Amino acid sequence: MLTAAEVKSFALAQGADMVGIANIERFAGAPIQMDPRQIMPEARSVIAMAFRVMRGSLRGIEEGTYFSNYSAMGYGGITYLYMPMTVINIARFIEDHGLEAIPYGHQSDWRAIDNGGLLRPGYSRPVAPGRAAPDVMVHLRIAAYLAGLGEIGFSKMLLTPKYGPRNRVGIVITEAELEPDPIYDGPPLCNRCMACVEACPGGALPRDRTVKVTLAGRELEWSDIDIRQCDICFRGGRPADDGHVDDPYTEPMYGRPVARGPHSPFYRKPRNLYNTGQAVCGARGCTRACMISLESRGVLENRFAKPFRRRKPWTVDWSRPDLDTAPGAPGSQSD
Ligand code: SF4
Ligand code: SF4
Repeated sequence: MLTAAEVKSFALAQGADMVGIANIERFAGAPIQMDPRQIMPEARSVIAMAFRVMRGSLRGIEEGTYFSNYSAMGYGGITYLYMPMTVINIARFIEDHGLEAIPYGHQSDWRAIDNGGLLRPGYSRPVAPGRAAPDVMVHLRIAAYLAGLGEIGFSKMLLTPKYGPRNRVGIVITEAELEPDPIYDGPPLCNRCMACVEACPGGALPRDRTVKVTLAGRELEWSDIDIRQCDICFRGGRPADDGHVDDPYTEPMYGRPVARGPHSPFYRKPRNLYNTGQAVCGARGCTRACMISLESRGVLENRFAKPFRRRKPWTVDWSRPDLDTAPGAPGSQSD
């Protein structure tokens, strides 16, 4: 009989950095659009894996000189290349034992809900009463929490004891009955330091407005993130509420004009890399500031010889035309 130890050992050998298992009972009460049982009604276990975002892939953004590496290697490369190979091989391994398994990476483009968890109007309809509208999107961070990989921080990021907020999550949903791991109960990771709140360029993480949920009998609370604000600032923009748009190349978002922000040096948003080339903010608050905070407290297992922050954080001064690079400036022939 296939055991949890065999599956976890195989997952690590296939490239996962961390692996844990949740039994399906822990998903009781999940919203229908996020419920793995809607995808596989006979599911018995969810195997969750953390794939580390390399600290080095954030270095270029931290220095303000090389932004694409985070989107390519810390984001799209993990999500669309590295993780699928791992989850596919694990599903094959389980299916070789005669048990069905769904390799569920980070694919979310077809999901029926938006970033705020609301159904996308006019998108899809259930095929029968009681079924979710396609596609269901399992909440990966919650699955990781339920599989014992770590905590959900105040930023709503998954924090693991190895990498803090530097994780991407992939899962395998299977009808294999596997011994579950305990919910994370190690040393507390999030100490409500609010570094994420203070450093978020979009002010997207309110300090005083929170969401409370109960997961597997435990009460959790995180900041009620303003997803739209994050969406804009994540791409390097800032909402121009006064209607003034100083960047003619930036598309309006959510019906609001978007202006260049002080945390992006680009005249317009660079092309996407994979599907996720938009991480110009470099997760300044929810990942970088949080990681710096956790590392300074010495609570993470993945340790480095030198601190991450080595120079004063930069901002872009758009009022200084002397820093314009003429060939690439908006409106030039080469643009
Ligand atoms: S920065 Fe501080 S408050 Fe925010 S998630 Fe990390 S540890 Fe928690
Ligand atoms: S991705 Fe950027 S804008 Fe969004 S919450 Fe994190 S730090 Fe804030």
